[in-house]
Amino acid sequence: MSCDPSALAMAGIRGLSPYQAGKPIEELQRELGIAKVIKLASNENPLGPSPRVLEACQRALPELHRYPDSNGFGLKRALADRLGVEPAMLTLGNGSNDVLDLVARAFLGPGRAAVFSQHGFIVYPIATQACGARAIVVPARAWGHDLQAMAAAVTDDTAVVFVANPNNPTGTWVSDAELRAFLAQVPPRVIVVLDEAYIEYAAVDGFPDGIELLAEFPNLIVTRTFSKAYGLSGLRVGYGVSSPAIADLLNRVRAPFNVNSLGLVAAEAALADADYLARGRAANAAGMLQLEQGLQALGLDWIPSAGNFLAVDMGTEAMPLYQALLQQGVIVRPVGVYQMPRHLRITVGLEHENRLLLDALAHCLESGA
Ligand code: PMP
Repeated sequence: MSCDPSALAMAGIRGLSPYQAGKPIEELQRELGIAKVIKLASNENPLGPSPRVLEACQRALPELHRYPDSNGFGLKRALADRLGVEPAMLTLGNGSNDVLDLVARAFLGPGRAAVFSQHGFIVYPIATQACGARAIVVPARAWGHDLQAMAAAVTDDTAVVFVANPNNPTGTWVSDAELRAFLAQVPPRVIVVLDEAYIEYAAVDGFPDGIELLAEFPNLIVTRTFSKAYGLSGLRVGYGVSSPAIADLLNRVRAPFNVNSLGLVAAEAALADADYLARGRAANAAGMLQLEQGLQALGLDWIPSAGNFLAVDMGTEAMPLYQALLQQGVIVRPVGVYQMPRHLRITVGLEHENRLLLDALAHCLESGA
């Protein structure tokens, strides 16, 4: 082919940068030739998968030659019972990322715009641009969503507003009162996506539960995931909750069998394991405190977080420190692409992982990295 393939792509795709994932443990092990690597870079659950999930997957293995249930009947029924909604209100996704993409495909395109916050989760600009829509980025307030400014930024061609609560990578959150006031202000013709990927960790007074707002605001889509507190990042299961009419639209653009068979049974088992969820939350609260105390002792500042991660201000351009931490076998996440070049995002790990991170950080700071 003589023609440059990139010239053939849609304009939005040509201008895209691919999503940058956290560095895999195996990659750093290969690069450094060391076995001991800790990864606090992708907001994964440090407990490992629930034993009940492993049993459920084991039981499902002999049926791997079958396609999964494309409608996810069992998981939808379990979720509907748990959330107190109708199964027809649920859209299952290959991670909640998939649901965000389905929203973009169903409601965005050339001639339409999406509103989201500066420092908001990076998939919002990617999904918006990928389908040829215009992005309206609203400046953050104290690193978080400025909901009033976001409501005011809605234009005639705005079809979707994305709100992450808590937000990644900042960990910032909006209160129930703020969210209700915002939803009352946004015109009903605009879809509001409330991304609650980290809600299970949010132990903050006055933290809103999007599901409770659905009856009042029919333009709302709440997205959640099994990747974080439920410990299933590797199996890719997320879901949207919305009016049945919106779920029907999302279902029209959903790829057949978008959630795999192990993901379906694993998510159902994870949902039933209340003990695992409680242990994860307790470990996160303890680990968060440990990190905050350690960071304070190092004289570092961070953004208060309602998630399972902290955006830490390194006081200077953070990439050299990121690289120096890699040399110590510690993987964290640089967030320059979020217009936060001085911060590193650190996932809350287990006690010994947090300790290793803090020790490595102290070492790097002392050696002037
Ligand atoms: N929303 C937010 C705010 C996230 O941080 C992430 C994961 N980084 C997702 C959605 C997507 O996660 P998943 O596709 O694993 O559900």
